[in-house]
Amino acid sequence: MRLDPKLLRRKKAAVLGLGKSGQAAASLLRRKGFTVFGSDTRPRAALKAALGRRAAGFSWEAGGHSDRLLQAGFAVKSPGLPASAPILAKLRSAGIPVFSEVETALALGRGTPVVAVTGTNGKTTTTALTAEIFRRGLPCGRQAHAAGNIGHPVAEAVLQARAKDVLILEVSSYQIEDSQHFHPRAAALLNITPDHLDHHGGMEHYIAAKAKLFQEQDGDDFCVFNAEDPLVLKLSRACRCRRLYFGHKKGALCHAWPQGGKIRVRLPGGRETALVPPRLPGSHNLENAMAAVLLGLGWGLPVRAVQAALKAFPGVPHRLEEAGVVDGLRCINDSKATNVDSTMVALRTFSRKKVLLILGGLHKGSPYTPLRPLVESVVKGILTIGSAAGEVEKDLQAAAPIFPCRDLKTAFATALQIRAPGDVLLLSPACASFDQFRDFEDRGDQFKALVKSRR
Ligand code: ADP
Repeated sequence: MRLDPKLLRRKKAAVLGLGKSGQAAASLLRRKGFTVFGSDTRPRAALKAALGRRAAGFSWEAGGHSDRLLQAGFAVKSPGLPASAPILAKLRSAGIPVFSEVETALALGRGTPVVAVTGTNGKTTTTALTAEIFRRGLPCGRQAHAAGNIGHPVAEAVLQARAKDVLILEVSSYQIEDSQHFHPRAAALLNITPDHLDHHGGMEHYIAAKAKLFQEQDGDDFCVFNAEDPLVLKLSRACRCRRLYFGHKKGALCHAWPQGGKIRVRLPGGRETALVPPRLPGSHNLENAMAAVLLGLGWGLPVRAVQAALKAFPGVPHRLEEAGVVDGLRCINDSKATNVDSTMVALRTFSRKKVLLILGGLHKGSPYTPLRPLVESVVKGILTIGSAAGEVEKDLQAAAPIFPCRDLKTAFATALQIRAPGDVLLLSPACASFDQFRDFEDRGDQFKALVKSRR
């Protein structure tokens, strides 16, 4: 069912889950004249503290979902609420449609066109770069607003965005899955890691969920795909709108590919152009850049503006971020690497055995053994921190010398003692941060503060 004017006339909405995006949805709905009833499983005191000033703005319940929700005309689901939550089945069987926060926000906005970025990895980087490209490339007076998972709820962004602007949205697969009629003018699907298949109950479901990205798109729209990701490539064949592909090898399919240190682009019917990529490490970032370039040029933005954005783009904090040089030791903050896959991506950007690697934090359950070959080839020493240290040490024994450090401060001090000229200190911990830090941003900020204190 579409969130259409008929539904919007029933001015009663329920909001399931009152995290950042749920709260933003509740505020937006209130501003648009709805009576809002919010519901969250957290205990009352914790929820009240999280809501802060907003607690007084609408009625809500804590500690679970009651039948009072069944009085709503429709419900808004936060991405964190599992699709299997019994309340969702209950609402649906009572004939109450459920929409995602993104879809609700867009229905209540001013019809601002949407560019959507999704995939397993690289969403934030690609969204931030795409926003930079659109900011520079849109004609004077039209703005680009980055929102979604990037940290700014769509429900807030639609209040600022005018019809002539563009919303650049980072959307997770959950948000797409929860939407019925999501219609971006342009979209990019960066990659799909097969691990995610478990959550979606197999390949068929996964493909159906992801295909919602472009199922509403038509002849005026376009979608960007990674030609070298087998799942993405397969999925792209179901897309009816204009398709643009990127890949490392030119091939017959690709509209963007790297060659001679540049990103070469050739859009259907257009001339070939070469662009200097942003100064970000790793072939994964080249992929992110190619996707962003195709979104910009596919939209019709001027090549000069796209090139200027690539040149100016500093990257996103906590993702292989240059934190500074201390006594000749180059320090890199990759605190966003909260799993083994991300740390592998980081290690692949190095070719010499010069890396002092800080690993550890809160153990997530998967083994660290997949890191072994890369550690053996580029890591000179492992500095372990956090509660996962024991697991890390067991899994990577003898792959490189291990220095148990317990915490970040000790790891930093140890690195300064053992460093040699040309070494790199890399915080890419392959673990969650919650044992010793508020979140990965806090971990990265503390690392940067340590570096700064010695510069
Ligand atoms: P997301 O928002 O999808 O989590 P980010 O841009 O925040 O993605 O990057 C998070 C991490 O994912 C990076 O630190 C890097 O390890 C990895 N990554 C980024 N881009 C890619 C990519 N295109 N392919 C594979 N891994 C990537």
